[in-house]
Amino acid sequence: MTVVDGGRAPQTARRFSGQITATGSPIPIDRSELAGLSVRCMDCGTVTPGDRPISLCPVCGGLLDAVIDIGSPMTPASFGQGLSPHLARSGVWRYRALLPAIPEAAIVTQGEGNTPLYVDDRLAAYAGLRAGSFGVKHEGHNPTGSFKDRGMTVGVSHAVAVGAKIVACASTGNTSASLASYAAAAGIPAMVLIPEGKISGGKLAQTIAYGARVVQIEGDFDIALRLLRELTASHDIYLTNSVNPFRPEGQKTIILELFEQLGWDVPDVITVPGGNLGNTAAFGKAIDEAYAVGLISRKPRLITVQAAGASPFARYFTSGWQTYEPMHAETVATAIKIGDPVSTPRARRTIEQTNGYVTMVTDAEILDAKALIDQVGIGCEPASAASLAGARKLVAEGIIGPDDSVIGILTGTVLKDTDAVMQYHMGDDADGHRRQLANRPIRVDATLDALARLLDTVIEAGPVATDNDALAGNV
Ligand SMILES: [Zn+2]
Repeated sequence: MTVVDGGRAPQTARRFSGQITATGSPIPIDRSELAGLSVRCMDCGTVTPGDRPISLCPVCGGLLDAVIDIGSPMTPASFGQGLSPHLARSGVWRYRALLPAIPEAAIVTQGEGNTPLYVDDRLAAYAGLRAGSFGVKHEGHNPTGSFKDRGMTVGVSHAVAVGAKIVACASTGNTSASLASYAAAAGIPAMVLIPEGKISGGKLAQTIAYGARVVQIEGDFDIALRLLRELTASHDIYLTNSVNPFRPEGQKTIILELFEQLGWDVPDVITVPGGNLGNTAAFGKAIDEAYAVGLISRKPRLITVQAAGASPFARYFTSGWQTYEPMHAETVATAIKIGDPVSTPRARRTIEQTNGYVTMVTDAEILDAKALIDQVGIGCEPASAASLAGARKLVAEGIIGPDDSVIGILTGTVLKDTDAVMQYHMGDDADGHRRQLANRPIRVDATLDALARLLDTVIEAGPVATDNDALAGNV
């Protein structure tokens, strides 16, 4: 391409290369390039080619795992090598050696991953752990503000690779926002089914803004997903819910990146919020594969934390894996408000293989933990805080030892649910009392004198929000 600038000689226009690029029109991929893709049923073991949209085992209907070639040992240097610059910089695709062999021409990336790990002694003290031994890996730093982008870059890339005409999901919010964004980048139409009136305004706004067709269902998430799965059985739709075997592959990189950040010296425990259990499932696969190729010499315990009002997996665990009962889900943590998690069998495998544990915490425990995570400057959406609330509960119960090192996974940014923030700080608790960490705006007279007196009071009070109403009263 050339441009003519005034009377000067034609110049060659600069084309950016090695950056995150999208053309809005997916490149057709020859099926012969997909020969390295296959999936294995976790129930009957049948291996099926992965060169087509596939969600369940064609023989028995069981859940599928993407097959990864882990034949030879790996070292930390195995990652990021031999990749084009934009793949090497993605916090997902730099781990391509342990991901499905999707052709590079089909890969839709937005530079996802590369999320920070915060070690904060105020959070450690809250959990009852030693200074320096509690950290949070913050997946809210992904392009659309949640961990879903890690799975979606793999799922949508696979959709492009197999020539999908439309991608779809049912969602409590974060998945729909992520799918909408990645489908837009890929240039494929997206349809999302959401439970009407039950997802946060921030997530709905993202999904609408990114251009997905939003379909509101009169019913909860579980009904929306069941409808979509039935539709997928009879229509040519690429399903991107976590039943999809390729999305968990991207979510594995949360763990691989965490281990790399820790110098491949694993923590004793990882706590993760549990809703549909895709992360619990993916984390187990990541830990298993990292161990199998010799990247780590021991496995951390994986602990899944559910909201008490949406805790079928925790109840299943408590029954000694004897009784699984779906339930009507009700919790302030909408991202994990799921009563019948589709990845339950995969997640059980993770808990068993890592000597893990499953627990539940109340909405009040989640919101108090969130208020602290927010107040130390990190911030997260309500569901994320289950990882800290769960750690605190299990330290108190002696399930996590006081000398253990623990990493909690934060799944989404504080901006995903601003209603929850305002309700916590402006409202009262169930007993009608102001919450301890409530940080209400302070009203003062519009005079320099009033502001100056308030300033002295705030400096004296220190950085932790105390009773701002009382502060104002001192003015
Ligand atoms: Zn099967």
